[in-house]
Amino acid sequence: MPRIDCILLDRDGTVIVDKHYLSDPQGVELLPGAGEALAGACAEGRKLFIVTNQSGIGRGMFSENDYEACRMQLDAMLQSCGASVTASRHCPHAPDSSCICRKPETGLWQTLRDAYGLKAERCVMVGDKLADVGFGRNACLAASVLVLTGKGRAEAEKAGLKAEADMALREDGWVEVHKRSGVLPDVVACDVRAALDWVRTVLEEK
Ligand SMILES: [Zn+2]
Repeated sequence: MPRIDCILLDRDGTVIVDKHYLSDPQGVELLPGAGEALAGACAEGRKLFIVTNQSGIGRGMFSENDYEACRMQLDAMLQSCGASVTASRHCPHAPDSSCICRKPETGLWQTLRDAYGLKAERCVMVGDKLADVGFGRNACLAASVLVLTGKGRAEAEKAGLKAEADMALREDGWVEVHKRSGVLPDVVACDVRAALDWVRTVLEEK
């Protein structure tokens, strides 16, 4: 397995607390351990990218400027932990707009790939929703990790992965998924720290 040099991250429920249509930078709150874990990934020379569905914009609940203020706040908070986000991309569209950028569609991946010369086999997607897993699969990334923060537990149950999720939480770590039906993650991990541990200790050693 080649080295993984980019981590694509969902935002709400993966890096920060899911506040449901977050539009106020004051509400940006890192999940426990996320800043340190992402700083560790940067120290290993990995680039971080955020890919996020922000349908609240398309629904008229908040503006592009509100999103941008939250993005800058998150970048600053991560920066103060020692983690730097190379770039963020968001889909502003409502789910019924049939755009090509709402995850699990791959429009956000294509713009990052073209702008930064990314190689799919050197990228891993980490998110708390099955749409994130589908995004990683559709983009043919090296792996997709479902984290159990945010909506991750409910999403794992939806995918028939309750046993794996329970075990990952019990062990404060990760459990690989060996079923092969439908859109499933390669691994469920209790949080982004555990997801990165798996990348480092298992995926890159395969
Ligand atoms: Zn879109």
